[in-house]
Amino acid sequence: MRALVWDGTGLHVDSTIEVRPPGPGEVAVDIAMAGLCHSDVSPMEGRIPQPTPAILGHEAVGTVAAVGPGADVPVGQRVVFTVLRRCGECRHCREDRPNLCSASSRPVTDPFTRDGEVVHQFVRLGAFAERIVVAQEQVIPVPAEIPDPVAAMLGCATVTAFGAVEDRARLRAGESVLVTGAGGIGLNTVLAARAAGAERIVVVDRNPAKERIARTCGASDFVTTSDPALIAPAVRDLVPDGVDAAFECTGHTGLLNAAIKSLAGGGRAVALGLPPTGGTLDLEVRDLFHDKSLLGCRMGSVDPHRKLPDLAGRVLRGELDLAPLVSAVVPMEGAAQLVADLRDGRIDRGFIRFGSDS
Ligand SMILES: [Zn+2]
Ligand SMILES: [Zn+2]
Repeated sequence: MRALVWDGTGLHVDSTIEVRPPGPGEVAVDIAMAGLCHSDVSPMEGRIPQPTPAILGHEAVGTVAAVGPGADVPVGQRVVFTVLRRCGECRHCREDRPNLCSASSRPVTDPFTRDGEVVHQFVRLGAFAERIVVAQEQVIPVPAEIPDPVAAMLGCATVTAFGAVEDRARLRAGESVLVTGAGGIGLNTVLAARAAGAERIVVVDRNPAKERIARTCGASDFVTTSDPALIAPAVRDLVPDGVDAAFECTGHTGLLNAAIKSLAGGGRAVALGLPPTGGTLDLEVRDLFHDKSLLGCRMGSVDPHRKLPDLAGRVLRGELDLAPLVSAVVPMEGAAQLVADLRDGRIDRGFIRFGSDS
């Protein structure tokens, strides 16, 4: 089959990849489309370690093609994915917080090979391939009426952002919000804040071209700067007491410091961007004294098997419009250009089409 392989220097279409059949508790899924997330670019930039060769991609939609022994997902079911595995039995799994399960990072036995050598599967998914094998708890049914790119986005950017706003920060109507980084997760966070009834939504990005889409999603104010030290003063010019909730969506520790400095008393700073390995915070602890909170947030701090169907229902009822975020859909051969476009801020969310019609 064909897949996009990251070899350490470039992203190439490779038609010699083999994928093994699903084992016990696993399913094979034919990928229709996968989104390009900044987390897929991070290994290419060396920001997170990833052995090569590897198949990246983790935000995708497809159709179950085969199931292994004990897996009870119907063949033909349309599904989206979660990177999180789960044991189903521990305290966290029983309390609907599978993102804290110690099995959540347990890898699937390598499904991809080339000439008998392992090709690594990024974050237990490796969705940039025509067919992938994952644990059955990593697939979540999604209604057929939701377009491919929107369905794919639900599984990563949307569930992460809406979980962060609604379940982690528990944003209330009338509160004020700061969002740092107007990428896929940041823009979904703006949509979530608007849906929660936020009064003031300040978005910060270094790219002035992001203002239009940020305002389309619901931003009331847009600040362009690449200097984190300028963010808190700019926020206080707009919201003198500071914001009630700040969402750091890029994984940049300087921006997380700025987010904390921008908080009002009682405010919550939520770190939803994946920080670089070894990143540390230069935090004046006094900043937290007035009932402020610094909250980590892995994949929205939710059970995706509950949150995703909820979000899919909101899309179907017209309460949530993700279509403006879909900037580009390209065949596999266009993936390298899509990566360049994402890095340069020319697109919001780009998608790669897989399968025979690509
Ligand atoms: Zn992602
Ligand atoms: Zn568990």
